[in-house]
Amino acid sequence: MAPYTPSPAGLSKRQSRKREKRHPHIQDSMASLDMNGSYPLTKEEIDKQITKTSPGNYAYGYVKDNTFYVDYVGRADSDLNDRIKHGIGKYKRFKYSYAKSAKEAYEKECRNYHDFTPSDNKIHPDKPDGSDYMCPICGQ
Ligand SMILES: [Zn+2]
Repeated sequence: MAPYTPSPAGLSKRQSRKREKRHPHIQDSMASLDMNGSYPLTKEEIDKQITKTSPGNYAYGYVKDNTFYVDYVGRADSDLNDRIKHGIGKYKRFKYSYAKSAKEAYEKECRNYHDFTPSDNKIHPDKPDGSDYMCPICGQ
């Protein structure tokens, strides 16, 4: 597996632009994912932590020097437990939060995406199927 090159986590777009392009290993704490964890990304741990069938948000990443580095953020419109298992084997750890609705999950995913610009999020988050929700940050 190729090593990840994490993008600067924890900076907004505006802040990022002031810095050199390559500035990895910025702390999660500067902008918050507002999620539980992190936990090892295993089936057992996911089933232990995420016991409700619910929409929600998650982040994949790894921990170094007690800091969680974000590789990818995503959401589930209906079943977070099932969705988050897609990353097993590819990422080391996860964070998660429940959402009340697909709309709430979408809007949080957008904020996470714009706050962290994770290296493995190649495109802007998709809207939930059949919805016309707008990104709260960029209006897309
Ligand atoms: Zn946006």
